[in-house]
This record gives sequence, C-alpha cells and structure tokens, in this order.
Amino acid sequence: MFGKKKGGDECHSCGRSLHEGQKVCRCGTATAMMTFEERIQYEVEQWRTTRQQATA
Ligand SMILES: [Zn+2]
Repeated sequence: MFGKKKGGDECHSCGRSLHEGQKVCRCGTATAMMTFEERIQYEVEQWRTTRQQATA
C-alpha cells in the first residue's frame, strides 16, 4: 500500500511534499521518515504541549 511512489514523500495530513529525511512536516505532522522511537517521543511531546495548553 505505502511506499510505491518514487521520489519525495508527501505529508499524509496536508499533502505537502517532504524533503528527504524531513521528520516533521511544516504542519506539525510526523512523517514516515521518522523512526518508530522518534515518533513516540514526538507524540509524547505533542501530547504534553496540548495538555499544558489545556490546563493553562
Ligand atoms: Zn503536513
């Protein structure tokens, strides 16, 4: 399903084309270039930020 396209990837969220090795899209979405561990880390941070904003 995934990975059939050659060349640059696109953000699955906003459809922007991504640079090689770009781990986070400009819209803030983690891309497929991010490793599993990095992605978890990133999502935890996103969650923390959201939570802080909600509480503040
Ligand atoms: Zn995007």
